Amino acid sequence: MKTPMNRHFTPTMADWKPDSWRAFPARQLPSYADAAALADVEARLASARPVVKIHGIEALARDLGGVAKGNNFLLQGGDCAENFDDAVADRVSRLAGLFDDMAAMIEDSDGRDVVRVARIAGQFAKPRSAPTETRGSVELPAYRGDIINGQGFSAATRAHDPQRMIRAHVQSVGTAATLKAARDGLAPIYTSHEALLLPYEEALTRKGEDGRWWATSGHLLWLGDRTRQLDGAHVAYLSGIANPVGIKCGPSIETDEMTALIDRLDPEARAGKLVLIVRLGADQIEAYLPRLLKAARGRDLVWIVDPMHGNTEKVGTRKLRRYDAVLAEARAFFRILREHGLVPGGVHLEMSPDPVTECLGGGGPAEVADLDRAYRTACDPRLNGDQALRFTKDLMATS
Ligand code: PEP
Ligand code: MN
Repeated sequence: MKTPMNRHFTPTMADWKPDSWRAFPARQLPSYADAAALADVEARLASARPVVKIHGIEALARDLGGVAKGNNFLLQGGDCAENFDDAVADRVSRLAGLFDDMAAMIEDSDGRDVVRVARIAGQFAKPRSAPTETRGSVELPAYRGDIINGQGFSAATRAHDPQRMIRAHVQSVGTAATLKAARDGLAPIYTSHEALLLPYEEALTRKGEDGRWWATSGHLLWLGDRTRQLDGAHVAYLSGIANPVGIKCGPSIETDEMTALIDRLDPEARAGKLVLIVRLGADQIEAYLPRLLKAARGRDLVWIVDPMHGNTEKVGTRKLRRYDAVLAEARAFFRILREHGLVPGGVHLEMSPDPVTECLGGGGPAEVADLDRAYRTACDPRLNGDQALRFTKDLMATS
């Protein structure tokens, strides 16, 4: 589908503002009942401390430029969703340990330096496939992540509360500071999250000394698979920021849609600006990926695989992912990229350093019944620490 909209609104236009997205249709945003309370929160966030510094974002952009040139390997991962009751200091050090163990394996067998990007310090908002959840005869708004509402199944908890943005910001600032301190003298771990909750993103957008606009809520922001409409608010927002931007590419993406997104989000064609995050599913990657790669030929892009989101099944009310499907999609991705003369840029995983039992196989739970032991995710199933290490080893053995 072609829309005439791009003629009226391009990122190079001097009139882009952090609130320009408001003129475009937005999917997946909460509906706040109290407009005054929302405005108050937005005003407070607009003068609040940035979660990350601009020079850190620039450093990531340089490192990603190295991925685009084939010198670095991007390892992006973490929880599907962070939670307000997370034990931040403990989580940061355990996740950093997992990153380092995985990176050591990758550097040993692949030779490229690993760029570490966590889903952390802002990964609080979730897109949902259904707006409501029904239990018995009760229907309530779906849980949309702690920055929007709570998991508890009551009308009060599921109400969309703008004050939650303040709490998410405070936790994100604390998490980012803890992460930075933990990496003092080591290679950095950058932060990333889905740019879903636009009022929050807008309020944390700042103009740099260079006159460009920067999202200071995280180093890398990505466009979710459900909110990548070319004429939509999320694309409008992301088209104006100088940060590196990820684009989730699910099976519904058309080749001309993908190339239009690339042009729109990176009109200057800078190596390392865009990260194409392929999440097609083990069964579909063979059929879909080659034409996406061909359509984007000639562009300096970072291509990575998210082998989690295209391989989600349902058992009862729970989501399930199988280790074998996750590994199969990642292996296919590495092979197909090479067949096309491209360098596979890395991987994007939902993973936890903890011994959670959320994905089947790979040394973890063998049967569906075993998932009960430690199924703790607030949203999607994560590889546990052992599964993530096994995945790295298995992938490196074949790539
Ligand atoms: C996610 O990364 O948690 C997510 C919702 O991904 P996608 O937009 O690819 O479905
Ligand atoms: Mn997820």
